[in-house]
This record gives sequence, structure tokens and C-alpha cells, in this order.
Amino acid sequence: MASRIPLAVPNIGEREAELVNEAVASGFVSSVGQFVSEFEQKFADYVGAKHAVACASGTAALHIAMRLADVQPGDMVAVSDFTFMASSNAASYQFAELLLVDSLAESWCMDVESLRREIERRAAVGEKLPKAIEIVHILGQPADAHAARKLADEYGIILIEDAAEALGAMWTEGPLEGRHVGTVGHMGAFSFNGNKIMTTGGGGMFTTDDPELAAKAKHLSTQARLPDRGYLHDEIGFNYRLTNIAAALGVAQLERLDGFVAKKREIAARYADAFEGTEIETPPRLAGQESTYWLYSVLVPASRGAGARDELQDFLAEVNIESRSLWRPLHMQPPLSHELTLDGATGEDLFARGLSLPCSTDLTEDDQSRVIERVHEWLKLSGE
Ligand SMILES: *Cc1c(COP(=O)(O)O)cnc(C)c1O
Repeated sequence: MASRIPLAVPNIGEREAELVNEAVASGFVSSVGQFVSEFEQKFADYVGAKHAVACASGTAALHIAMRLADVQPGDMVAVSDFTFMASSNAASYQFAELLLVDSLAESWCMDVESLRREIERRAAVGEKLPKAIEIVHILGQPADAHAARKLADEYGIILIEDAAEALGAMWTEGPLEGRHVGTVGHMGAFSFNGNKIMTTGGGGMFTTDDPELAAKAKHLSTQARLPDRGYLHDEIGFNYRLTNIAAALGVAQLERLDGFVAKKREIAARYADAFEGTEIETPPRLAGQESTYWLYSVLVPASRGAGARDELQDFLAEVNIESRSLWRPLHMQPPLSHELTLDGATGEDLFARGLSLPCSTDLTEDDQSRVIERVHEWLKLSGE
């Protein structure tokens, strides 16, 4: 049997072991310790945010953002329909009503223009407006944060960026030139889960330029406990802080992040070359912004019929190559089936035809060639 090619695995080296050992030796293994603040500072510098607060997960960072947006039961939150369910879970924890907004086929990210039309319609007839808009930079691809921020500001809505999948992605032209994802909204959230572009085992980061929001985020993440000797808590908080051991891992991974991003782009360029001129559709490459291609994902041709994506996945699995379907859109998730949805057809199409291919940062050229050849073979066989 050919050796297994995984979808995306963490890339942990000696530096990570060194810093984690240092954290262990220091005795500060939990949420107090030098690595937490060092990680926050270095992370904020990296993405160009004024403040960063380390959290136990990306979902925790998003939940804190929902709390700070003052999302209350029955408030509406507009969120991308085509995403991993953690995006909306953060709003659901606050018992929000969701407005699920479909993606654009060109970017796979939220169709902000259609959200604008819906908000204008609602405003005109006096219907409830969203309290927060959550855009998602899907698979490393920047969403249209500029248009979303403009819309949010016009209507006094809070913009939250779910940048969990897109650390390192940037705009290179236009009004957001030189900016990182996660720094355009009022608040941003990143994830360091095991398969994300860098990992702390599990963890996340909350970002903002607003010092007050940053202080509140830190407070909420530490059980809203005041610095009083008598255990005084001024609101209902969470145990959402990152541990010092995880932060040590984060500091080491952050040092290597530029290398990871470069490798993801190299892998993406090779796949894109290999599939050019075939019926395989490659992920968006938009002018003025640079995706990190976190999970490199293709769309199988619609001409091969409804089951084609699963067929290709099975065909790869036969030779020990791991691949994964893209997400089922939120409006198709049983607990969310009653939520309002703007269109949804693009998300359904991405779900039906989307497949993520191996793209670990230590993927060898030989292994990538194996994947490419196998996809070509399937195209030939399935087209006959
Ligand atoms: C991974 C992910 C999250 C959640 O991050 P965790 O650290 O796993 O909690 C949120 N949103 C998106 C889009 C993600 O892919």
C-alpha cells in the first residue's frame, strides 16, 4: 500500500519543543506566565492589530466578540452561510437569530452586496437590523471586509471578522492595501486548532484596535474576576484564557508562520498549474488580495454528475490519499434550518462539488505529484 498522504497535519519542530520545555520548566503551565503576553504582543505586531487577547479557542474568541457586540437573545447576527459551523455557534451561544448570507461564486466569501440590499430593505420597512455582521475569510481567502465595514458603519452595526482560517492573508492593493485579515472589523478572531495554518494544540486569538474592547475581552476570558482579594466578579465571564504551555507553542509557530504561508502558496501554485486546462475548478485568485490557501480546495466539474465529488474522494482514498468535502452550508444544518437565509445556492454548489486536497506545510513534491496524477486519472476515467 502506498504511504498515506494526510490532508493537513501540524508542523511541529525543535523550536516548539524548546519553548514548551521552557514553559514547563518555569512552573507556569496554566494561564499565567510570560509566554501568554509575549504571544499576544508578537501576534498583534504580526497582523498589525493594536491589541490581541489569547483565548482557549477560535470559537471562544468569536463568542467573546459576540458578547462585546452586545448580542442578546433575539438579536440578529448576519453571518456567512458557507462556513464551518463554529462561525455561527458563537452567535447561537448568545441565542441570536441568524441571517445567513450566501457567498459569491467568485470569492467563495460573503456576498456583501446582497446583505446590503437586505439591510436597506429592512431599514425601509422598519424591520429588525443585524446587531453584528460576521464575515468569514474562508479557506484563507479574504472576504470583502472593506464593503462590509462600510455597510456596518453606515448602519451602526458591529463588524466581526472570522479569520480563523486565514491567518497571514492580506490585501495588496486598494483601500485595504497592506492590511491583514482580522484587523478591518471592530473585532477579529483567529484559530490555532490542530489543522489551522499554525497551531497551539488548541487556541485562538481575539484582535481589536480598541483598547476598551481588548481590556473587556481579557476580563471576560478570565471569569470576569476583578483584581480584588475577595473574589469579586462584575459580570458572568468565561474560562476562555489560553494556557502558558499553548502560548509557548504559539510563539514558536509564529516565528515560522511566514514559511508556512509561503509553502501553502507554493503548493497552491503547483496545483493550479497542474489543473489548468482541465475541468477541475481551482480556488479563487482575486486581484488585490493574497489568499493563504489554508486548505487547498477544488471543485469537481458539474458535468460529472451529483456523486462526482464523493467518487473522487473515494478514488483518492483507494491509494491512501486523504481529502475532505467542503462544508455543508449553515442553512442545511439541522439546528439552523429555521434561520433566515439569503439565497444559499452558491454555498450548496460549493458543498456539492468542493474537495480539499492534501496541503500540509511539509508536503513533498513527490507526494503532491502523486495527488495530481491521481486526480488526472480520475478525470480521464470519469469522463469516459
Ligand atoms: C476553525 C474555525 C473556527 C473555530 O476555531 P476553533 O479554534 O476550532 O474553535 C471558527 N471559524 C472557522 C471558519 C473555522 O474554520
